[in-house]
Amino acid sequence: MMANITTGGGFPAVPPRRKHGPLYRFLMPWVFLTLFVIVFYNVRIRDPRVSTEYPSYLPGAEVELPEYVRENFLTQNPYSRPGAYLRKINGVVIHYVGNPGSTAGANRSYFESLSDGTTGVYASSHFIVGLEGEVIQCIPLTEIAYASNDRNGDTISIEVCHPDAGGQFSDVTYQRLAELTGWLCWKFDLEPSEAVIRHYDVTGKRCPLYYVEHPEAWEALRGDIASVKARLVAEAEAEAEAEAD
Ligand SMILES: [Zn+2]
Repeated sequence: MMANITTGGGFPAVPPRRKHGPLYRFLMPWVFLTLFVIVFYNVRIRDPRVSTEYPSYLPGAEVELPEYVRENFLTQNPYSRPGAYLRKINGVVIHYVGNPGSTAGANRSYFESLSDGTTGVYASSHFIVGLEGEVIQCIPLTEIAYASNDRNGDTISIEVCHPDAGGQFSDVTYQRLAELTGWLCWKFDLEPSEAVIRHYDVTGKRCPLYYVEHPEAWEALRGDIASVKARLVAEAEAEAEAEAD
């Protein structure tokens, strides 16, 4: 009458471990191996500190720049050319150098001079457009520049020289800036009215000064950039058609 409730009908207290079938035992090592390869591949290839290969997935890789761009890259250093990959290009940020009358070359030298770390300043830009409309490229389009704070990781930066403290760009500088920015918008499929922004739009810094103080001049510049992009799109289409004939 007094049945032993805890042990029930004579079952063992601990159930036997379920044995895996032969298929399971055959597949599991392969599942683990596959996971390992996936994890290893991502760490090895995607981490720039580990990878020695030039990753082709970078949007700025193997892009041929317009002939007016003079390439003069900064030496890699923690202060102005950190060498981190620019994995996304979602916009272009326009700056003014804030040093009236200084040339593109002088501003490039300034960025290079930061490399010794004595000032502790971190600054650079992908491009500098000079007083005569010359363009110096300081950073490859596959790497980030230290120019636009939170947007360093997904934008291309352009510093622009200006003759006086007001910060308005001279005509030749303005035209070249519109040409370069329009070209970037065409190349990376960016919408000028949204993707071309001022440093001011990122941090509230009054840069580029004249185009912060004169919003209508800024919108006009964006319009001119959009016209350049439209022209390049049309030219590319015409070229493609000519090749197809
Ligand atoms: Zn700026």
